[in-house]
Amino acid sequence: MTIHAIRTGSVRIKTAQVEGRGRGLRRRLTLFADRNWTDWLPTYAWVIDHPEGVIVVDTGQGIQLLDNVRSFHPYQRWQVAFRIEREEEIGPQLRALGVGPRDVQRVVLTHLHIDHDGGLAHFPRSEILVSRGELRTARGWMGCARGYLPNRWPSWFDPVPLDLAAEAFGPFAASTRLTQAGDVVAVATPGHTADHLSVAVLDEGVTYFLAGDASYNERLMLAGEIDGVSVDDEMAGRTLEAIRCFARDRPTVYLPTHDPESAMRLATRRVIIRSSGTAG
Ligand SMILES: [Zn+2]
Repeated sequence: MTIHAIRTGSVRIKTAQVEGRGRGLRRRLTLFADRNWTDWLPTYAWVIDHPEGVIVVDTGQGIQLLDNVRSFHPYQRWQVAFRIEREEEIGPQLRALGVGPRDVQRVVLTHLHIDHDGGLAHFPRSEILVSRGELRTARGWMGCARGYLPNRWPSWFDPVPLDLAAEAFGPFAASTRLTQAGDVVAVATPGHTADHLSVAVLDEGVTYFLAGDASYNERLMLAGEIDGVSVDDEMAGRTLEAIRCFARDRPTVYLPTHDPESAMRLATRRVIIRSSGTAG
């Protein structure tokens, strides 16, 4: 089994989105007052070349996001900026790896934010899995109001709603195996969105934790600092705690979507090393 990191362009957000300030509604509103941008951060999608077939986790950005500067949505217009060229979309990058559209059996989305579902158009023949609750949240005009772009989904988009079974996977309360071998597992990591999921890939004694936006980087996960957009403080905090707990027992390579060090960690199999005194 091989995992590939596919960088689908870059994104810039406000620093108060990466590391939330305050709690609750105040935390979620503060980012709109923040004038400080992050550096350009990568947006990774992941390709699991598995004996049972290729699984893609998240589809990254698409060039249609460059139109967001004209959006009426205050978040999309003023709080986020994208960089991407057409050949940086996931489709062309998969072809460069020798993976054609028909080779991808399944696409799993950690959540439906616009930089995770932006490459859906490249997968018309794949089974697409999205958690049922996330789909409900993102649909329709309420989805648009929440900052999703359901109007940009391909017309054929009809994902399989994923109900994570009430089967614990380590400290995670709900999980579903995505392969017969049981070595690719979707786990519930609610917080960033209420139905956010992550994908754990077990290979040769190491767990590769494809974390989506559970946190924007490893440091914040270790520190238990939640982001500026998470829907619920307690829920997001419990998820970060569960990830730390998981990594305590098993060698874990932590791979968030926007962490500048994710690709290096994957390439060098660098597991989470907790320094003494780290919270949690
Ligand atoms: Zn997100």
